[in-house]
Amino acid sequence: MHDLVIENARVIDGLGGAAIEGGVAIKDGRIARVGKNLGSTKTRVDAGGLVVAPGIVDLHTHYDAQLTWDSFATPSPANGVTTVVIGNCGFTIAPCKPEHRDLTMRNLGHVEGMPLDAMRAGVDWSFETYPEYLDMLERKGSVPNVASFCGHSSVRVNVMGEDAVKRKATDAEVAKMKHIVREAMDAGAIGFSTSTLEQHNGEGGIPMPSRFAGEHELLELTGALGEAGKGVFMLTKGMTTTVPWLEHVAARNGRPVMIAALFTDPNDPERVVAEFGEIQTARRRGRELWGQVACYPLGMEFTLSLPYPLHAILAWRPAMEALGTDRYAQLFRDRSFREAVKSEARGKGVPVRFSYHSFEHMHVHDVANPKFKSLVGSLVPDLARAADKDPFDWMLDHALDGGMETLFDCKLFNVDEEKVRDLLVHPCAAIGLGDAGAHLTFLCDAGYGLHLFGHWVRERGDLTLEQAVQMVTSRPADAYRIADRGRLVPGAHADVILFDPQTVGRGEKYRVSDLPAGASRVDIPPLGLKGVWVNGRRVVDEKGPLKNCGKPGVLIRNFAA
Ligand SMILES: [Zn+2]
Repeated sequence: MHDLVIENARVIDGLGGAAIEGGVAIKDGRIARVGKNLGSTKTRVDAGGLVVAPGIVDLHTHYDAQLTWDSFATPSPANGVTTVVIGNCGFTIAPCKPEHRDLTMRNLGHVEGMPLDAMRAGVDWSFETYPEYLDMLERKGSVPNVASFCGHSSVRVNVMGEDAVKRKATDAEVAKMKHIVREAMDAGAIGFSTSTLEQHNGEGGIPMPSRFAGEHELLELTGALGEAGKGVFMLTKGMTTTVPWLEHVAARNGRPVMIAALFTDPNDPERVVAEFGEIQTARRRGRELWGQVACYPLGMEFTLSLPYPLHAILAWRPAMEALGTDRYAQLFRDRSFREAVKSEARGKGVPVRFSYHSFEHMHVHDVANPKFKSLVGSLVPDLARAADKDPFDWMLDHALDGGMETLFDCKLFNVDEEKVRDLLVHPCAAIGLGDAGAHLTFLCDAGYGLHLFGHWVRERGDLTLEQAVQMVTSRPADAYRIADRGRLVPGAHADVILFDPQTVGRGEKYRVSDLPAGASRVDIPPLGLKGVWVNGRRVVDEKGPLKNCGKPGVLIRNFAA
């Protein structure tokens, strides 16, 4: 007798096979059978002809802190995600000595836009080492399955303290770090993650610790994966790291390398095409490189009081350092500061950073100062033209004129959908980059999978539903060696979603204040999702998350080689 049968469905297996009429039978948390005449069962769900598919495997989340207070990993399961990979970009909260806790939270607040008050009120710090952190997550339990990277920046702070953001490591320090990475791998980390991205700065605009690492340090730490014979090297790449160098790392360790974040950049559209060319060349030589891509435009909301998108402009650094002081506004008045910022924004240089192209899709979203009420909804370049000003000058003048808290929204990258499609269908692409758990104050792309099904399959017709499902289920699971997930085949873990292909997608963005200490976040409601099961247990129904669903998710510690 099965525990559950979902029948009268179109079953998509996640492996790219054509949908079949029938259903799935589940017993003891695993798929027992797929097809018709599934036999007797304790519980039966009539899918009403809708689609049953594997749950989405989200490779790029930042739930490291949130999972210590929110076992739901809100809002991922409500968006069809059944497995989350945390610890991306090298930003983890483990290992962490007590004296580094507040610094870790302040850095995360800056680099990943997590509300500091929420973290200070919410994070459970009852661990110190990486293995202790995994044990704690396992003890607490979670709604989705969780796999966790060992993050470079945390490892660096753990070994070097304050010097982690000042200098290169000594050989002795590198050896200590490598020991921690190896210990994490042995305890069940999914791999090692880092960032060399120019936008990744912590408190006071100081680059995140991983950005101070030299090549020797990176080779040694990724070498721990080679020695362990398992694990993925994930990095968010800045301009100082090249794909050929990453191919060298992959060859040295015989381990996959996941390269984020490959957006199409209107300021330099050829760059990502060239990088995918290099990735494909490496593949032909037998090195497993992946490019991580997104299926939506990267947009965000920001104010000039904390302009995250501008932080990637190197000439903006003095402003980052002056944040919170009187010098901040003085810099806005400074002609040479303005000229440096403007000239950098005109050139290429740092990939995927704010440029003059970014103004093309930038609106005044809301105003704090009532005298600007009439500007709401206006396009910034139009306002600049009307004032006969350069858009940068208009924006900085506006801030000085009482508009420091004016909320802008912009679409920065992945705006040209023809170019985005070429990335999505690339054989070396892995779709992710939802950044769930991060940037809570200005974006929410945890529902990227539902957007793929609604927009790219139904609305645009660029993909079949079978292809799209595969792209967010078995393909990411296989790339990350997550065994027996992301597929509906007998023996696989029963991570299942049920949705209506006619309505699936994402709704309208809104704000909700449900974080610790009353902090607010942006949410985008899922559309057309009727059910989510994790390891055979239902966690979401047609109305949304089930409060009393328990914690059926597991901490995944064993990965295929
Ligand atoms: Zn990230």
